[in-house]
Amino acid sequence: MKPAGVVRKVDQLGRIVLPKSLRKRYQMNEGDPVEILVQGDHIILERYRPRCVFCGSMEEVKEFKDRYLCEPCMNEMGQLHNR
Ligand SMILES: [Zn+2]
Repeated sequence: MKPAGVVRKVDQLGRIVLPKSLRKRYQMNEGDPVEILVQGDHIILERYRPRCVFCGSMEEVKEFKDRYLCEPCMNEMGQLHNR
């Protein structure tokens, strides 16, 4: 992790404006979901990507009945059905 060279003040509602240059660089557009992650003393912003409800994986995730499942978990469920 390295400093982006930007210092911003948090407003009274807890908001921080992300500089346009960073939004452009990380392709964050108005209305895009952003996930807030924490790691020790750090707060990390990441473009939101759905996670599998069972294993937390972000790879090969597909929507199924308003939930997200990864391909391996989906296959495992399929195998349970065939037992
Ligand atoms: Zn999974």
